[in-house]
Amino acid sequence: MLLFLNFLKKKKNEEKAKEADATTIESKRDNKQVATRKGEIGEYKIDIQLDQLPKDYRYLSDLLVKNPKAKSGYSQIDHVVLTPYGIFVIETKNYQGTIYGGNDQKTWLVNGKFKMMNPFVQNYGHIKALTALLDKKYHDLFISMVSFTKRCTFKVDLDYRKIASNEIIVYDIELSEFIFRKVSVLRIQHKEPLLTNVDITTIYNSFSNANITDSSVREYHRRALNTNSSKENANLSSICSICNKPVSDKVKAYCLTNKKFKGKIYCYDHQNIKR
Ligand SMILES: [Zn+2]
Repeated sequence: MLLFLNFLKKKKNEEKAKEADATTIESKRDNKQVATRKGEIGEYKIDIQLDQLPKDYRYLSDLLVKNPKAKSGYSQIDHVVLTPYGIFVIETKNYQGTIYGGNDQKTWLVNGKFKMMNPFVQNYGHIKALTALLDKKYHDLFISMVSFTKRCTFKVDLDYRKIASNEIIVYDIELSEFIFRKVSVLRIQHKEPLLTNVDITTIYNSFSNANITDSSVREYHRRALNTNSSKENANLSSICSICNKPVSDKVKAYCLTNKKFKGKIYCYDHQNIKR
């Protein structure tokens, strides 16, 4: 079994390498656009971080699972990392500026004016959706992480930076380090791993099976997010100011917190236009 998994993993890595080659070719064609896109989505650095994790950890990215409590009926989870000592659920944010937030506040602020839902409240909902997929014995093993890019400065409750906490805020470049440190602390506390390789595989399969890949459902979820996304910023529309194409909540937040866009929202295609 383990051999087979290793084989799968190897295969996956080979596919990744192929993808990387494809990116290289593409980047030769349109270097700037590819680079900018990766930066915008903020996922490139996260992928590097996830690849640095020990080989017996497993992770899943971009999960869409049913969540009756969510407005759209679904929760989208950026990353889940399965370790022998806990299940890390990671929400990524791509804002630029100073992040102000406390653990007793439902709303946080970027640069003192852009409002965002407390990401740990949001991620709590994600964890609830994932918990529902698992046996009770796994329910207390979740750790909530929110990752911001280095374009941010944290002015948040210091508890969120403490490794003892089960709600941890990190910069993308320190994601794997914080997971590693958290696991080290748990290892000292527990001696025996809390999850065996079999447990990890079971959990991985549960999440993987629950993941909705149907693109029409994903599109529905995206639109539902756009229509009721962050009521706090409702006065700001969610469409590209050049082509009127609707943009995701993440793209909107990226634009609104990025000085170069001067408070306007642009779709991917219109973010690179010289202005
Ligand atoms: Zn546009």
